[in-house]
Amino acid sequence: MFRSTAYRHSSEYPILFVTLLLTLGVVLLTAMLTQCLSLLLILLMFAFTIWSTNAMQKTLMAKAFLVHPQTDPRLASIVETCHKRLKPGPLRVYIVRQQMVNAYTFGLSDPKSVVVCEPMLRVMSPGELSFVIGHEMGHVALGHTWLNTLVGGLAGSPSPYGIGYLVYLIFQWYSRACELSCDRAGLLACGNLNQAISALVRLSAPNAKTAQEFDTALARVDAEDDTLVGQLQESFQSHPLIIKRINALKAYAVSPEYRQLQQAMDRNLAA
Ligand SMILES: [Zn+2]
Repeated sequence: MFRSTAYRHSSEYPILFVTLLLTLGVVLLTAMLTQCLSLLLILLMFAFTIWSTNAMQKTLMAKAFLVHPQTDPRLASIVETCHKRLKPGPLRVYIVRQQMVNAYTFGLSDPKSVVVCEPMLRVMSPGELSFVIGHEMGHVALGHTWLNTLVGGLAGSPSPYGIGYLVYLIFQWYSRACELSCDRAGLLACGNLNQAISALVRLSAPNAKTAQEFDTALARVDAEDDTLVGQLQESFQSHPLIIKRINALKAYAVSPEYRQLQQAMDRNLAA
């Protein structure tokens, strides 16, 4: 069995290091200013984060449908194929009836939860769904679910003089690097660059049904980084601009690293 996380983007760890360093600095500064009262506050916040994540998972279990070969054979087969290719570790995939075209992952302990919103099954092709599910499995394999919970909690720690906001912005920077890593996982899962790109475009334009509507959406995505405002907006967001994600995938798809991993994952599937 070949299990690899070599698709992790090279910027992810350096940005995580800067994020942790800065948050540690803020924690120490606030601890000094508040005679360690802030440390107690941070511990309480961590406890709350863990509790709320578990509560969210329980609420989800109550209203979500576990993907099963008998109830949803098409999706179950996609999940199985992605799981065989990426080997992300223990996870369960659920469908929820939320009216948005989105998927997300969370969980501090195994099995992690991958959640697919129901409309996504109607607007996406099997190849596009493989990309999205592979992307979410990437978050599990790379440890983002627990790291985001803990680092995100830390980044939200109370701090003076607007430094807290700076930490938040750096955390968003880290989050964007994680997204680039997981887009690679998505591409490795679906094995088709065109399907990966159309999945990304469809996330921003779920109602684009005809080829003409899709081309209009692609042109809009393509123009995202043409203005300074567009570039600046990205700094406040947890996800990179879609055009940047597409360009990063195009570059990765022609790299020798991608070809090597793709072959290894083909062997995983055949095993
Ligand atoms: Zn993601």
